[in-house]
Amino acid sequence: MTWQIWQGHLGRQFLELYIHSQKEVILNWKELVSLFRTTKHSETFSSNSIKKNRVDLHIHTTASDGFYSPQEVIKKAVSAGLNIISITDHDTIDEVKLYADKVGIEVVTGIELSAEFDNREVHILGYFFDHKDKEFLLSIDNFRKSRFERVKKFITKLNEQGIMITLNDVIAKSNSSSLGRPHIAQAIIDKGYAKSFYEVFAKYLGNNSPSFVKKDFLAPETAFELINRAGGISIIAHPGAISEVTVRNFIKSGVNGFEVNHPSHSSLQKKYYSEVITKYNLIGTAGSDFHGGKRSDESNLGNFYLTTTQFNLIRERVHNLK
Ligand SMILES: [Zn+2]
Ligand SMILES: [Zn+2]
Repeated sequence: MTWQIWQGHLGRQFLELYIHSQKEVILNWKELVSLFRTTKHSETFSSNSIKKNRVDLHIHTTASDGFYSPQEVIKKAVSAGLNIISITDHDTIDEVKLYADKVGIEVVTGIELSAEFDNREVHILGYFFDHKDKEFLLSIDNFRKSRFERVKKFITKLNEQGIMITLNDVIAKSNSSSLGRPHIAQAIIDKGYAKSFYEVFAKYLGNNSPSFVKKDFLAPETAFELINRAGGISIIAHPGAISEVTVRNFIKSGVNGFEVNHPSHSSLQKKYYSEVITKYNLIGTAGSDFHGGKRSDESNLGNFYLTTTQFNLIRERVHNLK
């Protein structure tokens, strides 16, 4: 693939995230997403399904590191009895919107960003933002560029050490939705400079290796502000076992809420975050964080949800914030 084609290719991509798999990916991006439809389909759809009134606000597709395409995810969501979902990677929305319309499911604008706080990675969900907001689009584009620059810096440093791989070698190891250290590693192995991923990471790509390039993470408050300025709300994804001090810190920095119901949360954690949102008058969300494929999380879809009533209260609240 030539450099020019690659640049065009990047036009459809953005944002390297480091999702739970510890797999680096660049999210596919066309027009930041989604669609924000009226609720009329919620009612028409409910007759198709035994379960109903279920809203899953955290789902991935092939636009990030999910296994299924947005259309496949929508089909699965319908069979799982969901009537409103948010696809939190992002992608090609006009098509998704048309398709969602056809099968009678509502798709809420969403995204999952990566930030860093106290040397730990924090995922931040954004909902209801204007996906055509220029400043928002520009920032996302800048994150994408900085991820790409990081790969280039890795290559320069490796070349200085006599590991002669090129950008094209790395690109050849990636598919359309991902580019990161695993692809650099594969290029190094294929050129015969190392025998295994373990060796590559130990010698060249690990955090303590001489060619390591630090990732530029967002500060959480920057992500909150970015989402808010585009008219959306920011939610800490799967906060799990973060400390109370950190929770208070996020609240002080302006986060709008926490993901309360997530497959990784224990019942104690769910209880804790419900209390936090009540105490500080914040927004609590729920989602399966469905990825599909090898994750064995098929049974989560349809089982981590808000009711439509709970969701509509959030929608109303967001509306009043605007
Ligand atoms: Zn996440
Ligand atoms: Zn996620």
